[in-house]
Amino acid sequence: MPSLYKTPVTALDGVGEKRAALFEKLGVKTVGDLIEFYPRTYEDWSVTETIENTFDGGLYCIKAVVGMPVTDSRISGGRILSKTVAYDSTGTVQLVFFNNRFISAMLRTGEEYFFYGRISFTPYGKQMVSPMFANSSQGAKIYPVYRQTAGLVTKTIRGCVDRALKMLPEQVNDPIPEQVRKHFDLIDLKQALFSVHFPENREALDAARKRLITEELLVLNLGMRDLKTHSRGISKAKIETDFSAEFEKLLPFELTGAQKRAVADCVADMTQKNTPMNRLVQGDVGSGKTAVAASVCYTVIKNGMQTAFMAPTEILARQHYETFKKLFSNTGVKVDLLVGALRESEKKQVRERLQNGETDLVIGTHAIITEKTVFKNLGLAIADEQHRFGVAQRANLLGKGDNPHLLVMSATPIPRTLGLIIFGDLDISVIDELPPSRKPVKTLLISSEQRGRAYSFIKKEIAEGRQAYIVCPLVEEGELENVASAEEYAAELMLREFSEIPVGLVHGQMKSAEKEAVMEKFAANELSLIVATTVIEVGVDVPNASVMMIENAERFGLSQLHQLRGRVGRGDAPSYCVLVSDNQSDKTGERLKIMCETNDGFKIADEDLKMRGPGDFFGQRQHGLPQLSIADFADSKSLELSQKTADYIMYIYKDLRCDELRLLKAEVDRLFGRGGANSLN
Ligand code: ADP
Ligand code: MG
Repeated sequence: MPSLYKTPVTALDGVGEKRAALFEKLGVKTVGDLIEFYPRTYEDWSVTETIENTFDGGLYCIKAVVGMPVTDSRISGGRILSKTVAYDSTGTVQLVFFNNRFISAMLRTGEEYFFYGRISFTPYGKQMVSPMFANSSQGAKIYPVYRQTAGLVTKTIRGCVDRALKMLPEQVNDPIPEQVRKHFDLIDLKQALFSVHFPENREALDAARKRLITEELLVLNLGMRDLKTHSRGISKAKIETDFSAEFEKLLPFELTGAQKRAVADCVADMTQKNTPMNRLVQGDVGSGKTAVAASVCYTVIKNGMQTAFMAPTEILARQHYETFKKLFSNTGVKVDLLVGALRESEKKQVRERLQNGETDLVIGTHAIITEKTVFKNLGLAIADEQHRFGVAQRANLLGKGDNPHLLVMSATPIPRTLGLIIFGDLDISVIDELPPSRKPVKTLLISSEQRGRAYSFIKKEIAEGRQAYIVCPLVEEGELENVASAEEYAAELMLREFSEIPVGLVHGQMKSAEKEAVMEKFAANELSLIVATTVIEVGVDVPNASVMMIENAERFGLSQLHQLRGRVGRGDAPSYCVLVSDNQSDKTGERLKIMCETNDGFKIADEDLKMRGPGDFFGQRQHGLPQLSIADFADSKSLELSQKTADYIMYIYKDLRCDELRLLKAEVDRLFGRGGANSLN
């Protein structure tokens, strides 16, 4: 229905300029937008409860008979109070209405109605105040509830949607081919659009939602696949020879089987295909992604091309720089660092060396893409911790070369179903094995009363020569006072508990040079304890650190806690993570207990997704995906169904650009046009 997307809502009866402006606040400009303005939720009158089974505060639909004539009385302010009682076979409920003098005429004694409203328990028994009602002979219905704005309420929106639906043509062209719909038991589009707004019953609503959710995820899914097959041209970075065996000799350890497989996947991508590598290496914290990246770099450099390694923070860029410089010290590979904190003159020199080809590998932050960096022949771009980079930034990095190979590394254990969509444009290698040196981190949950004992434990570890982290949540202005502020807390620890011990502080407001200085001292074991906010979250490697204590643990997401915890357990000594929380009741406690039970990042991510939804995976971070209007990234069942549907469609039709999928391709363009991954097109 392309034309309806161009028809302004003012085309509807009862929608003038004023109401159109209100609709625009809700993101609705056209009749098509309104048809796609799916209900936020529903009032379900089709599921009734007996009066006996209602609880205080619950929202119910009950089917009950009015037991006595409505009595009207005047109360303060001249208002009318109408009262009556209704009963079913299990009990009675008092019904109260305000200021509606028609109630007595509408509710007839002895007749049965549906009453929809909130139940409260009063000294006089169960009560519903101002319930909505309808005669039971009309049958139970499900009513849509819309997101509303001041001056534009659900009831008005219902009317407008009703009129909008009537504007749909007799025959709505369905973007999902009939064969596919049949195979996956999906109803047709027109039926779905009517039923999602005004369902006949539960089954009709479920069928409509299934159809529309599947379509939206399918469109997203196909769009991401299309990016993969059509966004990259022929690779100019010709990699002929595999140098990974030679690289392994440089390492002080043997690569794990999983690391070797990841390297082999990358080498195969680069040597055996015409299109450039587009690969994600996903591995839990500490699985050894850096060594994989180094091996791939080495092969590309030995084939005569340059490589770029982009890290999300300066600390991490510097750490990788040190690691790579050491690793490549006797190989003739020239490594450079490019971060914002360098002096202008230094940056200029680095860029000159990149431009004239002297530098083989540049490691840096966003500086690599944001500043005017020119490569002589960039063959491979690596982005560490992918989740911090939007799809658009990935594209930017690639723009630095002539279609170079791309390797993305992520420690975020995104559940498989979600990953398939988010990384739909990438091939994936999973490092599902930890280096033998890596031990599970023993995790304990304590209350703040037990903090003293945790301090003693930390002191004992430090006395044995090891190091520790204490992590506090970031404090924003106006937040609760009892949340420890990293700065004050560190000051206090230095003065009291750990006055004999060298303590350092790292927090978000510090300049990066200051942070570096502290982290470097910690890495050199000049500091035994670091008090930090989450800036240590990503990547920092200090194998001698064996304890991490996390204050106000309930304020972190599980995946975040898991990332944090990954900073310890990197050396030979057994390692510990102590979660401090006085909020161990119910759900919060349940969440934190999962941390004590498992070290498996994927399991934790799944729990996190179940409990808090996908927002947690991304937070403020841009994941570069388009806005969804009905589907939900946390709904793994639907994600799976859409995946299967996409597989089936590609199996049958081969290419999104074929004629049968014309309408579906248009939907892809429309969805991606809403912002997000379209920047790659
Ligand atoms: P991550 O996957 O979190 O980026 P790193 O690459 O930082 O992990 O590796 C974590 C630690 O494990 C590093 O100290 C690294 O040197 C070490 N390491 C990596 N691979 C192996 C291996 N195969 N055997 C032993 N230690 C390894
Ligand atoms: Mg890493």
